[in-house]
Amino acid sequence: MEATASMDIADRLAAVRERIATAERDYGRSPGSVQLLAVSKRQAVAAIRAAQAQGQQAFGENYLQEAADKREALADAPIEWHFIGALQSNKTRPVAEGFDWVHTIDRLKIARRLSQQRPPAMPPLNCCIQVNVSGEASKAGVEPADAAELARSVAELPGLALRGLMTLPEAVMDFAAQRAAFAQLRAIQQALIAEGLALDTLSMGMSNDLEAAVAEGSTLVRLGTAVFGPRPEKTT
Ligand SMILES: *Cc1c(COP(=O)(O)O)cnc(C)c1O
Repeated sequence: MEATASMDIADRLAAVRERIATAERDYGRSPGSVQLLAVSKRQAVAAIRAAQAQGQQAFGENYLQEAADKREALADAPIEWHFIGALQSNKTRPVAEGFDWVHTIDRLKIARRLSQQRPPAMPPLNCCIQVNVSGEASKAGVEPADAAELARSVAELPGLALRGLMTLPEAVMDFAAQRAAFAQLRAIQQALIAEGLALDTLSMGMSNDLEAAVAEGSTLVRLGTAVFGPRPEKTT
């Protein structure tokens, strides 16, 4: 089933699940080994509720104020919240206190603050280190050459549970080029696992490069428009 603008969220979710299952089959991955993170930035609370009613539990948000408002409106729903936006070192507390996961750690200073600010009553904050695999095109993320050292340091922090690596590569349409970027992330993960770090997560793949990411071992794809349709314009 192909996603079109007129489909509602239940239909879109069903189509996305089918797309993930197909990619798992096509690339020899076990059924269910790729988790869906529904990226709900700029989408209404009602849209999140509609997805949640269809069994979607994990939602990704990029903006802190927006995420706080949504968490309050959805406090009754069993949602796993993932922060996938840019992290600023003076705004770590709402992430440490309000989220289950953070995917965008790219420096130790921020990781230390998140660890210190994680309330002791909560489980350690699940986190991924963001790696900039496509070079100068995107500024966010640690350089591949520095990723291992950052991962070793983050793994020591008591308030954090280092789960893996995340990347947001340059948007290209060529399948082989998409795969090459994701293969880099997987290689860094494999080297760290060989050193003894228990990393079970590769957060990679979005609406237009999901198949390449699954082919290279993604365990979590971050899909926004494929689940919710086009994002409303930012109003703030
Ligand atoms: C917005 C966003 C996504 C989702 O992008 P789509 O193209 O809508 O699927 C995934 N990851 C991050 C980090 C994002 O900011």
